[in-house]
Formats: sequence, structure tokens, C-alpha cells
Amino acid sequence: MTSVGTLFVVTGPSGAGKGTLIRELLARRPELEVAVSATTRQRRPGEIDGQDYHFMTEDEFAQAKLAGAFYEEVEYVSGNRYGTLEREVSRILGTGRSCVLEVETQGARAVKYREPSAVTIFIASPTFDELERRLTERATESAGEIGERLALARRQMDEATDFDFVVVNDSVERAAEELVAIADRETKAG
Ligand code: 5GP
Repeated sequence: MTSVGTLFVVTGPSGAGKGTLIRELLARRPELEVAVSATTRQRRPGEIDGQDYHFMTEDEFAQAKLAGAFYEEVEYVSGNRYGTLEREVSRILGTGRSCVLEVETQGARAVKYREPSAVTIFIASPTFDELERRLTERATESAGEIGERLALARRQMDEATDFDFVVVNDSVERAAEELVAIADRETKAG
């Protein structure tokens, strides 16, 4: 891949605040762009197709996978599939801009393996209780799925050391500043 942009991978447990911190990062550094992932999970109220995710049926996802459309893809809780679209990543990096991915930890490791120059940033919740509170408050999933996400989140918290940077989301403002500082430092000079 010939580009000068940096590939940033923001990872961590569901509920740690990855999405919020990425929004804060983009508000401060609008030259960065997020690659919109594909998923087979149901759309939540307020989510927009093509903006939050490219929502796909199981069949569409399987077809896309066969066609080699994914940079990485995983099966997450409740059998839902998520995948980074190769065309999104190359489109963004091809313009010389930096690209941000928001993925769970398995996908983050796959990206780093494939592209060692990628910068991986793990967003950690200050405590597990806090993570549980955020996941439960969001309450867009069923009780069973929240339980599944929590069990996975507990395991994912231990994976923080696998990544280049760890940002503790103790306060959105502070954590966002730290993320911006990392992005500024790690952005390759064009
Ligand atoms: P949610 O259903 O809450 O939107 O996402 C569930 C998890 O999947 C989150 O941790 C999110 O970061 C992750 N995720 C979203 N898109 C992708 C993707 O393209 N690849 C991978 N590996 N994980 C993703």
C-alpha cells in the first residue's frame, strides 16, 4: 500500500468509550477519517447505514468475504459479524490522509500483524464496575447479549499490554487530549 497516512487502530472492550473518544479526536483533528465497517448486527435506533456501519445480511457479508473485501473480519457476540472494508482503508490512505479503525481486540491484532506500521491504541475503562455501568446503561442489547459482552470485556481488559498505547478513559476530556497527542506524534509527515 503506497501512502503517507498513518493507520490508527482504536481498540478495547465494548463500553470503554472508543466511539466517544474517536468523535472527540475527529472534532479536534478533522483531517483524520474513520473507515466505516461492515456488520451483520441489527441497526440500533439512530444509526445510519453507510455512516455508522454498512449494515449487511449474513449472505451479503459472506459474499463480501469470499470476494476478499475485508481487511480483517471477526465473529463477535451473538454470532454477529464485523469487518473492516479494504476499499475504505485504501481509499482513505490513498488520499494521503490518516485512517482510524474502531475494532475489537482480535481485529486490532490482525491489523497490526498485517500492517506493522499501524498504531494500536487500547481504550481502557478505569474499573470493571464502570465498564459494567456503561454497558448496562446503554441498554441497546438484550440482557443475554449484555452478559456476553461483559464476559468478553473482562477478558479483553487483560489484553491491554498487546497494544502500542493504553489510554484510560477516566474523563472524556483528558482521555481525548491524550489520544490527540498520540495521533499528532504518530502521524507520518506527508
Ligand atoms: P457494536 O456492536 O457495539 O457497534 O460493536 C461491537 C464491537 O465490534 C466493538 O468493540 C467495535 O469496536 C467492534 N467492531 C466494529 N467494527 C469492527 C470491525 O470492522 N472489525 C472488528 N474486528 N471489530 C469491529
